Amino acid sequence: MHLLSKEQSVFAFSKENEPVLKITSGEQVTFQTYDCFSNQIESESDLVTSVDFSRVNPATGPVYVEGAQPGDVLKIEIGQITVREWGVISTLPEMGVLWHRAETRTKIVPVENSSIAHFNERIHFPVNPMIGVIGVAPADEAVPCGLPGNHGGNIDNHVITKGSIVYLPVFVEGALFGLGDVHASMGDGEIGGTGIEIAGEVETKISVLKGTSIPRPMVETDDSWYSVASDEDTQRAIQIACEDMQDLLVENWDLTPTDAYLLMSVAGDVQMCQCCKPSPVDVISRFRMPKLENLPRLIE
Ligand code: CA
Ligand code: ZN
Repeated sequence: MHLLSKEQSVFAFSKENEPVLKITSGEQVTFQTYDCFSNQIESESDLVTSVDFSRVNPATGPVYVEGAQPGDVLKIEIGQITVREWGVISTLPEMGVLWHRAETRTKIVPVENSSIAHFNERIHFPVNPMIGVIGVAPADEAVPCGLPGNHGGNIDNHVITKGSIVYLPVFVEGALFGLGDVHASMGDGEIGGTGIEIAGEVETKISVLKGTSIPRPMVETDDSWYSVASDEDTQRAIQIACEDMQDLLVENWDLTPTDAYLLMSVAGDVQMCQCCKPSPVDVISRFRMPKLENLPRLIE
C-alpha cells in the first residue's frame, strides 16, 4: 500500500508533470488531499473572493502506472473515503444558478465521523463523501484541474464514492493519474458551485485494462453504468453522454443503434454532475444505464 501526502500535488493534468509515484497495475494507493481551496479558507470570515485562485483544485499525484499505454483504460476502484471534521460551503459572485439571489458568504459545516453533516443547529443530514477531481494527463496541452474534459478532471460526479469504479481513457504512457477536491457531500448539479469542500483521504486500487477503449470517463456502481461528458452547451453535453452509452450498448448488448436508443429512453436516466452556470466550468452530464439481468458488463 502506497501513501501520497497532500503536498504531492499539481494544479493541472499534464504530460509534463513529473510522477510522484510509480506503481504496477493492481496496486493500492491512498491519496491524502487538500480541499479545493488548498485549505486557504479556515473560518467564515475568509471569503472566496480573498482566495488565491492560482492555488485552487489541487490533485494529489500524478501516479505513473507501469504498462499503461495510450488507448488503454485505467480502472480506479474507490475504497474508503475519510474526511476532516469540518468543510466549507460558499457562494461565489456571478457563478451558480441562484447567485443573483445570494450574498457572497462562507459557511463552515462540522462533519461528524465522515458521515453526518451539521448544516446548522437544527439541520443535519447523512453524507457520502465523493471525489470532485479525478483524471489522467491529456494527450495535448495541460488542462487546469478546475476544468473537466475527456481525461476526467473536475467532473464533480457524486456517484464517484466509496465502492464505485471509475474508468478513464489513457492518453499518455503511464497515464499520470491524480485526484483531489473531495466533498463530504455534493448535490447533483452542484447548483451553487461548491459542495462541502473538505480535505480527506481516499483509498484506491489502480489497474490497467488492455484491449478495451473508451473516449471519456465512465463510472460503475453496484447497480448501474454511467457515461460522463462535458460541453459548454448543456444539450450537447447530454448528447455526448448518450452517444457514449449507446455505443457501449450496441457493442456489448447486441443491439442495433435504434434499439439501444429505445431502451435508453425507457430504462435509463439523464443526470447532471454540474450545471452551475454562469461559470467558466462546462456543463457536465451523465447518463445512467441500470445493470440488467443476464446482460454482459459494458467494460471488461
Ligand atoms: Ca469541483
Ligand atoms: Zn470541490
